[in-house]
Amino acid sequence: MKPVLKVENLKASVEDVNILKGVDLEIKGGEIHVIMGPNGTGKSTLSSVIMGHPKYSILDGSVSLDGEDVLGMSVDERSRAGLFLAMQYPSEIPGVTNSDFLRAAMNARAEEGNELSLYKFIMKLDKATNELEMRSDLPHRFLNEGFSGGEKKRNEILQMKLLNPKFAILDEIDSGLDVDALRIVGQNVMQMSKDRKDEIGFLVITHYQRLLDYIKPDFVHVMMQGRVVASGGPELALRIETDGYDWLKKELGISDERVVPTEKNMSQTSLGTCATREMFKDE
Ligand code: ADP
Ligand code: MG
Repeated sequence: MKPVLKVENLKASVEDVNILKGVDLEIKGGEIHVIMGPNGTGKSTLSSVIMGHPKYSILDGSVSLDGEDVLGMSVDERSRAGLFLAMQYPSEIPGVTNSDFLRAAMNARAEEGNELSLYKFIMKLDKATNELEMRSDLPHRFLNEGFSGGEKKRNEILQMKLLNPKFAILDEIDSGLDVDALRIVGQNVMQMSKDRKDEIGFLVITHYQRLLDYIKPDFVHVMMQGRVVASGGPELALRIETDGYDWLKKELGISDERVVPTEKNMSQTSLGTCATREMFKDE
């Protein structure tokens, strides 16, 4: 059976500010979904909430993986259930080498007594770093410490390849990549989708069509104001690339697409930031 990740009417806040205001999304194994949308419309928040970042409060709605409630699981359980997030801003962990981290993460998913031998781990690691054309010293350095922006992003994809998730959420995996790195990352993601067919689904957050030259989406969604406001096929990404978002905002009657409106947009009612927050709190 194909895995299914289902997000229904998801509402979430951070520090008493409502960010997600009712997100609906369903992704099946074998599908590649792309989320686009201007800055500050809740895309990274959605990925963090699905993965279980403790800073967010869930106000309403649900997330399920193959019918199991995800929101009740710890981050660890989510990862073992098959969810993976390549973060927009990966953390640096000095003192932990990249390869130790990867091996621990892989073994945490193995059944007891079934842990990967060092030899098998090295074989897998070598294969994946070669496919990603990564510098050979990167696995042995402290996790992300001193990595360039592009190296961090490639390293997120390395983790994805080794952890073999059911659903991979890639948050702006293309930011900071040079053209060659963009191609390598894009091709590796597409190859994984082809190899694992219905066993893996992707949620790819990006601003740019150029990533979609390599990663071919089945569905493209646009987020504004903490919701998915439009969905379509690859043509939607092409239209956004040429025309931006104004046409869509006009069509939808949206003047400020952000989750937290700017002072400028609120000035007509001359409210300060605090009042603005209050206004949107109960939405
Ligand atoms: P996107 O990824 O679409 O650019 P984000 O999900 O990162 O947007 O952020 C959505 C909104 O939530 C932004 O306006 C951001 O400033 C706001 N936000 C995120 N974290 C906090 C926080 N800790 N306190 C207040 N606002 C926050
Ligand atoms: Mg973001």
